[in-house]
Parts: sequence; C-alpha cells; structure tokens
Amino acid sequence: MKPRYFYSLRSTIADRPQLTACGRLTEWPWYRCPGCSAFIDEELASYDAVIDHLGRRGLADILPVSSLHFVFRRDLIDLWQAHGLTGFSATPVHVIGWSKRTKKPFPTEVPEYALVRPSAFVRLEEPPPLGPPCPVCGRVACAFPKLTEPLPHGVQIDESSWDGSSIFGVLRLGFLFCTREVAELTLRAGYSKHFGFTRVEELYTAEPYDRERWADRDYGAYYMGFIKQRVEDL
Ligand SMILES: [Zn+2]
Repeated sequence: MKPRYFYSLRSTIADRPQLTACGRLTEWPWYRCPGCSAFIDEELASYDAVIDHLGRRGLADILPVSSLHFVFRRDLIDLWQAHGLTGFSATPVHVIGWSKRTKKPFPTEVPEYALVRPSAFVRLEEPPPLGPPCPVCGRVACAFPKLTEPLPHGVQIDESSWDGSSIFGVLRLGFLFCTREVAELTLRAGYSKHFGFTRVEELYTAEPYDRERWADRDYGAYYMGFIKQRVEDL
C-alpha cells in the first residue's frame, strides 16, 4: 500500500509581500483562553480588508493579510467545493479600499476573497503533546522547539484522530493541513504561483540559515525546496 502523505498548505510569497496585493483585515477580534491563555481568533460573519499596495501582480489568488489568516480568492474555494472537499469553512472577505489615504486610483475590478479555516482537527504525535487538553478551549500544548530550531522529525499526525476530511488543522494552532487530493487538485488547476505544499513530516525540518555555511541564494533554493509547487514533486 502506498504510504499516505499529508501536506501543509503554504504561501510561497510570505517573505515577498511586494509581489502581490497585500494588506490587513480591518477588524478581527481575538481573546486569550482563560484556561491556558491560548490565542483565540473570534469568528465573524464576514471581514473587510484594506490594501497597502498592489504589487506587480495585483489582487492575486492569495491575499496576505497576516501570518495568522489564510485568505484565498473565491474561485479556488469554488474549485474545492465543486470537488466535494471537506473540513473547512470559508468566510467572505470584502476588499474595501486602500489602507492609507492616497490619490492612487483603486482597481475597479476587485475579486471576491474568503478566509479559510479548518473545521476538522487532528492531534499531533510529533512534536509530542506536553499534557492533557485545556479543559476550556481544548488546546493540547505540544513540544515545539524555539522558533529558530528545526523540528528533528517534522510534524507527525495521529492518524486515528483524523476524520477523513480533505482539509484539517490542529486546534488553536495555525496550520492548514490537507490530503494529497487537495494538493494535486490545487496545483493541477494552476494555483501554483503563490501556493505550495510541504509534507508534514518535512515541516520545520529545514536547517536554520547560517551565513558561514550558505550563500543567500543557495539557502533560498534549499528552503523553497521543501515547498512543492509541481504535482510530480509532491
Ligand atoms: Zn485553553
């Protein structure tokens, strides 16, 4: 039997915000869990977004608004829904104008966007859980190392906790995981410019940048090698 791979959906433009339109949500209320102080993003019925700049590619299929939110153009979500993919919610995001006062004209054609959140959740085996779930919000703290340290074994999903959903996450952690079906469908449909997929067991396994050992350019290629943008590389 073929091993089953799970993927983490990644933006490939996170560190290149000049490439596409980029901005922020005008309002996204959050609070801290009284039990474990986890960050909890309150869900609204819809969001408004304002744009800092359009970049060379303009309003693209991904709209970077923060490192915590996945905002995609509606046609990608329509594609997923048309193929019966499960395990996510899509909340409308309306782009309403510039974030700052400017004389620059705003585009007249503004695509529809949606904020995608997983609605199905799995538990992790790796990094290992640190204790039982929080009795208030259900979060399980896991032994993630400090930000600069790689995870020796990447991320391992406890498959017995997976309900078969196409898209899923980990409660209170900002992952968007998916099956190979989602990765293939998305890349084959041409959403490969600003999206990529990393096998979960390779997540955060990249060694940190060390200027003694890496030329800038080589490290960039090494790092991006973990984010697959072609079906044959999945
Ligand atoms: Zn909690």
